[in-house]
Amino acid sequence: MSSKDEEVCIVGAGLAGCLMACFLAKRSYHVKVFELRPDRRKQSVAAGRSINLSLSDRGVVALKAAGIFDQVEPHLVKMPGRMIHPLNGDAFYQSYGRKPNELHYSLSRGGLNDILLSAAESSGDVSIQFSQKCVDLDWEASKLSFEDQESSRVSSLNFSHVIACDGAPSAVRAAFHKLPKFECRAEELGASYKELCIPPDPNGKYRLEKEALHIWPRGQFMLIALPNSDGSFTVTLFLPNTGEWSFESLKSEPRLEEFFQKFFPDCIELIPDFKKDFFANPTGHLATIRSFPWHFGDKALMLGDAAHAVVPFHGQGMNCSFEDCLELDRCLEEFSGDWLQAFAETEKRRKPNADAIAQMAIENYTEMRDEVRDPKFHLRKRLEWALEEKFPDRFLSRYSMVMFYHQYSYSEALERGKIQTEILQKLTDDIDDISKVDWTQAQSLVANRLSTL
Ligand SMILES: Cc1cc2nc3c(=O)[nH]c(=O)nc-3n(C[C@H](O)[C@H](O)[C@H](O)COP(=O)(O)OP(=O)(O)OC[C@H]3O[C@@H](n4cnc5c(N)ncnc54)[C@H](O)[C@@H]3O)c2cc1C
Repeated sequence: MSSKDEEVCIVGAGLAGCLMACFLAKRSYHVKVFELRPDRRKQSVAAGRSINLSLSDRGVVALKAAGIFDQVEPHLVKMPGRMIHPLNGDAFYQSYGRKPNELHYSLSRGGLNDILLSAAESSGDVSIQFSQKCVDLDWEASKLSFEDQESSRVSSLNFSHVIACDGAPSAVRAAFHKLPKFECRAEELGASYKELCIPPDPNGKYRLEKEALHIWPRGQFMLIALPNSDGSFTVTLFLPNTGEWSFESLKSEPRLEEFFQKFFPDCIELIPDFKKDFFANPTGHLATIRSFPWHFGDKALMLGDAAHAVVPFHGQGMNCSFEDCLELDRCLEEFSGDWLQAFAETEKRRKPNADAIAQMAIENYTEMRDEVRDPKFHLRKRLEWALEEKFPDRFLSRYSMVMFYHQYSYSEALERGKIQTEILQKLTDDIDDISKVDWTQAQSLVANRLSTL
């Protein structure tokens, strides 16, 4: 059967669904995409409010491979480092990497989705049907059912292959539960998030350093802010669900005011609408989803959050989802369009990496909200860079591998990272200043424990 004759369906026209449609269109497949929501390009978005994401190397590589990066690039705001705002004392800047290319970008999620939707449609091989909620997948009949969100009418269509990109609450994943041996686990983080906003100043300028990810680490909770291209920052408050200072306890304006006065006094002026927005905006839920298998024969494959939602503390959920899409594209090439082999191999290559980034994202949560306040953490960061400089063929920080070097898989970053953490701990346990590092011991630890990169 030629690729043109097959009915390839994608469920979900979010970030992964649209990018996958672009890859398939480049291979001349006719693709039907079904999206729950109305076409967001036809909706009006309130001025000054835009939710943003961090795009890093893996995402950039996938967008370039699909031929879309040129359209995305003008909308990127560079984030070469983070600005840490302690409770007492002045804010300080910490660069993410040592080299000019070691940075990531802030960009509007909606803006990116719009670019991807238009790129998919303009290929001529992709049709996107909006307001269509996938409600069932019949494995025997190879049939998908959708409910039209305006008329509530349910219609069905036969498919040859389905790619599920319908995000964390995936309806296709629900159908996988009907299959024997399918396993899925949702691990709750115990914390949720709320989006707030730092508007531009009266002259339309940024109120904080533009080229940085801002963090207010406070132990059990934190605020972060990412720059938007319009002079505003999208702020996210991550807070436990229960406890003394939690979503459960912050139920009134006076209590919320007390919380900000106590922990984020410098943000009260920066986020003028914090009380209104806190109570008006939805509370976002945070969980890690691990599922297996991701594919069923050549009929269906889950990609992105549908297969493996991760918590957002490494800024990698989308980047990882884009890498999934790129891998499926490569496998279709490698196996000459044999869907069974391509699905099976994509799952085999990506599952260990999805598990690795899930773990690293949870670990980064503790680093961002807590460890960045510890002087030992900063000593280890300085030493990490010194080791990178002295032993460039063997030592590269885990953070850099994940964020800036797609050549190293998430699994490799996790594994090398474990060894590197042990080396850093050994070298810094009994010292408080980088001048006291025993470089002979460092040389021998690096040479004996780390293979060449
Ligand atoms: C607070 C927060 C911050 C984040 N920050 C970052 C970041 O900085 N960098 C990063 O890389 N990642 C980040 N992520 C993760 C990122 O948002 C996700 O990993 C990414 O959106 C996954 O893309 P996706 O296409 O798989 O899912 P989604 O983007 O969720 O898209 C799923 C699509 O499917 C549609 N859909 C759902 N159900 C159905 C149905 N039944 N039928 C039809 N369509 C359906 C949805 O409407 C949606 O359009 C963050 C996540 C959160 C929660």
